[in-house]
Amino acid sequence: MNPDPITENLRRVQDRIANAAISAGRGPEDVTLVAVSKTKPAEAVAAALAAGQTVFGENRVQEAAGKFPMLRAKYPLSLHIIGGLQTNKAREAVRIADVIESLDRPKLADALAIAIAKEGRTPVLLIEVNTGSEPQKSGIARDDADGFINECKDRFGSALAGLMCVPPHDEDPRPHFTWLANRAALHGLATVSMGMSADFEIAIACGATWVRVGSAIFGSR
Ligand SMILES: *Cc1c(COP(=O)(O)O)cnc(C)c1O
Repeated sequence: MNPDPITENLRRVQDRIANAAISAGRGPEDVTLVAVSKTKPAEAVAAALAAGQTVFGENRVQEAAGKFPMLRAKYPLSLHIIGGLQTNKAREAVRIADVIESLDRPKLADALAIAIAKEGRTPVLLIEVNTGSEPQKSGIARDDADGFINECKDRFGSALAGLMCVPPHDEDPRPHFTWLANRAALHGLATVSMGMSADFEIAIACGATWVRVGSAIFGSR
């Protein structure tokens, strides 16, 4: 029997990650694949879980809450919220997510701190930076990043693990990736989440430790 397309796609992406890491003088185990399952049904996530994938990304808290609690009862998995987060969704995000990659403003930091206290549960946090200064995109402005990172370090301690970005669609991502990796290093943050289906190998060459890959695994949306 042929493996299903999701299994095959996962293998292919994992091979490409390993090769990109080795080419960059790093180990394949230095890069974690976050499989982005937004808009895809729970069956697609279950297929990926059956193929051994354990780390998943979702944009929307409500969609994640509809899919993941049931799967979590059957499989060990890690759920990342990667999309812009409304403050009124902070509590549910803290309840269901292992990682929130999209902390991007003081108001959201306030809401997350309250939610963490109420839920008695602290997800790993990444700060999203709007490296391309795109008005429609979430992410803290570049110029405000250092101050916000320091505030969040004071507030969340070691739960603050790193930085995330989504570069502008129509630009060379390299300067954005390099800037983010440098910023993380400067702040002593180990995790750098960058790179999607179209550019994850470039991101790995620039120092990504997490890549968020959706369509190359689950097909186009
Ligand atoms: C959808 C999404 C991805 C994955 O995008 P693909 O191009 O499908 O790999 C990664 N990161 C974020 C923030 C996303 O919204």
